Amino acid sequence: MAAQTLAGDIARDTQDILARLGVAPNRRLDGALEARSPITGEAIGRVDAGGAASTKAAIACADAAFLVWRNVPAPRRGELVRLFGEELRRAKSELAALVTIEAGKIRSEGLGEVQEMIDICDFAVGLSRQLYGLTLATERPGHRMMETWHPLGVAGVITSFNFPVAVWAWNAAIALVCGNSLVWKPSEKTPLTALATETLFERAVARFGSAPDGLSIVVQGGREVGGALVEDPRVRLVSATGSTAMGRAIAPRLAQRFARTIFELGGNNAAVVCPSASLDLAVRAIAFAAMGTAGQRCTTLRRLFVHETVYDDLMARLRAAFTAVSVGDPREDATLVGPLIDEDAYGAMRRALDDARMAGGVVVGGERALADRFPAAFYARPALVAMPEQTAIVKQETFAPILYVMKYRDFDEAMRLQNEVAHGLSSSIFTNDMREAERFLSAEGSDCGIANVNIGPSGAEIGGAFGGEKDSGGGREAGSDSWKAYMRRATNTINYSEELPLAQGVAFDV
Ligand code: NAD
Repeated sequence: MAAQTLAGDIARDTQDILARLGVAPNRRLDGALEARSPITGEAIGRVDAGGAASTKAAIACADAAFLVWRNVPAPRRGELVRLFGEELRRAKSELAALVTIEAGKIRSEGLGEVQEMIDICDFAVGLSRQLYGLTLATERPGHRMMETWHPLGVAGVITSFNFPVAVWAWNAAIALVCGNSLVWKPSEKTPLTALATETLFERAVARFGSAPDGLSIVVQGGREVGGALVEDPRVRLVSATGSTAMGRAIAPRLAQRFARTIFELGGNNAAVVCPSASLDLAVRAIAFAAMGTAGQRCTTLRRLFVHETVYDDLMARLRAAFTAVSVGDPREDATLVGPLIDEDAYGAMRRALDDARMAGGVVVGGERALADRFPAAFYARPALVAMPEQTAIVKQETFAPILYVMKYRDFDEAMRLQNEVAHGLSSSIFTNDMREAERFLSAEGSDCGIANVNIGPSGAEIGGAFGGEKDSGGGREAGSDSWKAYMRRATNTINYSEELPLAQGVAFDV
């Protein structure tokens, strides 16, 4: 198919941005996979989509690259990631604008997503000089025992639409300094941001000068492409971000071949508001955590437990915040809540609100918005739902801006309700009572991978390990010692004596 132009301002803007980023016209306009913007619902570009066969070829190429890259000293590998960080800094506003167009995030969140990519590059550059092993005490005289960390192989990265580039960067920056190559299957809903990121990475590789071909390859397409990564034994690690249903579908197949996995799956995150909480602070934190990114973050606040003594006051303030929040085109400065990703997302939101009403919930908001201006797009007013109790629908993750609010009477009850769901990703407590805060963070407190005090559950800093428990998958990415998931550990024993003492006093003289 010949390169062609697409009608519409947003399509033209998209193509202009991609051209400025240096993406060749045929890569963004010809291909089987259509990209759409949730802002208007219109088509904005087309990319090549591969199938299982071309994914296998990509894996072979990445596997060959790994054999070279694993022998490059880690600090030198860090230099490539440093150059990539520079490319991201230069292209920050363009890539962020593309995130806004393709994922519907407001401008500050689009910029924030690219900043997260830059931050993880900085982190990984430092890490490239700190991939420490251990020296261990050995029971045998004249021996030394140590632990070393080696590159693992090809890392397959499957990502979701709502963090179209940052999640890949969390994985890629760390995987690369750890000596791995990468094959990335981005969401089929956000192929252009992936294409732009691939171009920026290629530019860093060109400046680096001596990286093997195929060090990081993007394979575009749907589940079958992700499935090819899952099935291939050359892909030693699969890091998969998306719904719990996706994780559940691929986990047994990966377990079958004993693949290393990092699962970053859904969340049904809660916050507890205690009697001593600063309500001014809590309202701001709750508003952002529940409505930001139109409720389409894995860490979005979805359940709120409020002590009965502050319930009426807090609910009045939340009603005001939910009613006032500006829903609109995310490219406009005044907008705080952009569109849902597509019609399916809006349908799921409507069905959840119907279920909540049937279960006795009282709903404020939740209506479709801007249908006149953008008939092919799906905007919704965030919904605040007063629930009589934690019913079945409250226990599900609906990937839309719905906040269910429930009263609690004593702290133990709040803890029980907070942990009473299948997911275990993120959580927070608003309190000025030191005992409540500490109990929330203790072994008998929140069962989530992320537990915060006096800040909302949504978002994360790259310095901490990110991930959740139970149906949230159990994986950890980004900071702390998450890098260990991208390397293989070897225990080495060296005998520098003339004797051969066996462990545990075993005698075996021949
Ligand atoms: P999704 O599960 O529909 O898709 C995610 C990715 O998995 C896509 O690339 C998709 O093509 C691929 N995929 C889906 N089924 C597959 C299969 N059977 N085999 C191989 N690949 C498959 O998720 P989504 O709608 O893009 O994202 C929203 C979900 O992701 C929410 O549940 C959200 O909570 C979760 N999420 C989690 C995190 C986290 O870090 N924990 C971060 C972002 C999003």
